[in-house]
Amino acid sequence: MDVNYRNQKRYKTAKYPICQPIYLTWLIQVLSTIMLASKKHKVECVGMEDLKPPYILLSNHMSFVDFELISKGTYPARVNNVVNIDGYYLRPWLMTWIGAICTRKFTNDFHLVKSIKKVTSRGDILCMYPEARYSPCGITSYLPDSLGSLIKMNKVPVVVAIHHGNHLHSPVWNVKKKRKVPMHTVLTRLLSAEQVKEMTAAEINEALRNAFVYDEYRYQKESGILITEKYRAEGLHKVLYQCPHCMAESKMASKDTEIFCTECGKRWTLCEDGTLSANEGETEFSHVPDWFNWEREQVRAEIERGEYSFEDEVDVHSMPRCYRFMPLGKATLTHDVENGFVLKGHYRGKDYEIRRSPLMNNSLHVEYDFPHIKPFDCVDISTESDSFYCYPTKENVVTKLAFATEEIYRIKIQNVRK
Ligand SMILES: [Zn+2]
Repeated sequence: MDVNYRNQKRYKTAKYPICQPIYLTWLIQVLSTIMLASKKHKVECVGMEDLKPPYILLSNHMSFVDFELISKGTYPARVNNVVNIDGYYLRPWLMTWIGAICTRKFTNDFHLVKSIKKVTSRGDILCMYPEARYSPCGITSYLPDSLGSLIKMNKVPVVVAIHHGNHLHSPVWNVKKKRKVPMHTVLTRLLSAEQVKEMTAAEINEALRNAFVYDEYRYQKESGILITEKYRAEGLHKVLYQCPHCMAESKMASKDTEIFCTECGKRWTLCEDGTLSANEGETEFSHVPDWFNWEREQVRAEIERGEYSFEDEVDVHSMPRCYRFMPLGKATLTHDVENGFVLKGHYRGKDYEIRRSPLMNNSLHVEYDFPHIKPFDCVDISTESDSFYCYPTKENVVTKLAFATEEIYRIKIQNVRK
């Protein structure tokens, strides 16, 4: 049951990207250099000396600055980026002009595969951020299994770009307040065209997984980076939402250098070297990603016990086209192991129901303080032709929803493969 829009037209994502005009490649590089001028950064290329496009460039993703750093590393070659539809908000003409490829996150976009092939066969660089969102905690997020066969289909070399420092400079849970952290991007030729030809899709996936291992907090410690800003812990409770002391969920808060539980009162300080330390008593996790991964295990266990389910009233804004988010009002969003996501609402006199079964979503698009509609947390449930940005009424629940989506997918796909 689709939404009863007055205008049924949708933005057409199924179209080929244009070949980026070379003056734009130059201009993007100039603008990137200007934007990066005030930030300490270094772009390093490893094994890329004799590498000419076409190739597929896969990058980890932590903030917008990643695009600027990639531009510095790839200039003067043309790059076509895969971009989610919210990147097209108010400027589809610009995105089309620079040769971006539009998609809706975590949907079956068959045309995306054709567009990628188009880019590599005309000799350009295809850049993709396969984790498909900013890393929530400075560690590797989900890498889809479809990457291996996509690369095999294109028969071109693979370059991996790993950014370091970008999450520490501007963590997704508090993008407004930047920290003084140097950024270091390394572009490495991972596979030659011959290797791609010889390897199986599973072997390529394995190579990618190994190349995509990163941990910003470990990097911070090893590099001796100190983050002295007094606001450095503000927002951290959005990813560390469960208290490891009293187990309460969504009761965490943060201020200045501290993260604390409003239920039991326990407090931890985020030290200058990126480690956590309990103000009193035992420090359950001194390494931020360990706390994050522990939460994932809690969600997984809850699913396995058969106790997981989510229901909330959400405020929905959809994006059938690029110039306006459509306010659809209140709706009910449920998530469980059997049905995946079900969004039920009512718009212009008619009910609508959006269903995304567990195997349709290997991960979930989460936004913290989403800037386009209103600055609060939301999740985006996309179909092949629409995107529904849902703002929960319950506080601080979106990170858990992402964990649950990924873990339910993992369980279901294992059952299918058995
Ligand atoms: Zn607590």
